[in-house]
Amino acid sequence: MLKNGLTVCYDYGENSVSISEDGLGQKFAVGELPCKILQHEVVEEISRVFFNCIRNYPRHGENFSQEEVEIAERYVLSALSFCDFIPAQHLAQGSFIRNMEWYRALDPESANRLLIAELERAKDTDFLLTDIGFENMGRFLNLCFNDYIIDLSNAIELFTVFSATETGTASREEQDLFKELCEGLAVDGKVPGIEMRMGYDLAKGNYTSSYVINSFLAFVVFEFSHYQDSPKRVMRCQNPECGCFFMASRSTAKYCDFPSPQKPSQTCKVFYPQHTYREKEKADYLGHLEKNACCRLYVDRSRHPEAYDEISKLIRNLRTYSFEKKKEVMEGRMAKSEYQQWLDSFQRNK
Ligand SMILES: [Zn+2]
Repeated sequence: MLKNGLTVCYDYGENSVSISEDGLGQKFAVGELPCKILQHEVVEEISRVFFNCIRNYPRHGENFSQEEVEIAERYVLSALSFCDFIPAQHLAQGSFIRNMEWYRALDPESANRLLIAELERAKDTDFLLTDIGFENMGRFLNLCFNDYIIDLSNAIELFTVFSATETGTASREEQDLFKELCEGLAVDGKVPGIEMRMGYDLAKGNYTSSYVINSFLAFVVFEFSHYQDSPKRVMRCQNPECGCFFMASRSTAKYCDFPSPQKPSQTCKVFYPQHTYREKEKADYLGHLEKNACCRLYVDRSRHPEAYDEISKLIRNLRTYSFEKKKEVMEGRMAKSEYQQWLDSFQRNK
């Protein structure tokens, strides 16, 4: 039986995990890992690889058997033997293999009962596979993939509503959902896949403990169960196009350290303050052009009292429509030179 998952050593608000295959470890404040794993392309990429690998499984027509499950487990693990972020890979592998092991340990009657429920669930959603079952290994892997996706979406849901509630940015629906999820978690046995391991450290001369986590949902529960001890707080990025959650030591932190949606080569923290500065400069410049155009009309009006009404109307119109025009320039739908031409078009008939 294969054992897989993310091994975490927890210590006063910090988790140590391996970040490379050679066992190189790193510490993360509680909350940092879910922000990194569950919000960006990391798990999407892993899930895509899983999906392609089970769809192309060369032994998909083989009968379901203990031996075939073991062959399939090795195949699934090797398909995902490299990944940009090792903790995410270990969690994904752990979640998938746990499901395979869970199904293979069932007696035929329980397996059938579960399959009926799983088929019902798959029919009600548009993201689950419906060709599932125990007839052959292809259908069996699809069944395990569905459970993997459900585990992942449950984790993302819990992470999102917890973080939204904590940052005071939760919508009414998110607040209700958070309450509902907490009630669900209150039921015994709802959180799968955490195993505590105890040992003895000969070098340090003390007992050690670590956790092996085999489920995305369990991982979020594990992280947030220690949230109060974390040296950092969850925050929401104030870049309006990002809005993702991140962990920060200072409550004044505004922007995240993840790639900004506007310019992925720069983080929001680097990109957005510069962006707002540039935007402000641009807005100031456009305001300056508008002011010049109005001044020109005021001078004209003072020199030509006979055209007072006509020029006053021009000034009114310029002011009324200028806001929309400036907005077009700010959003890149109009060039600055076009805006200038538009301002210049406010001339009285001579
Ligand atoms: Zn951001």
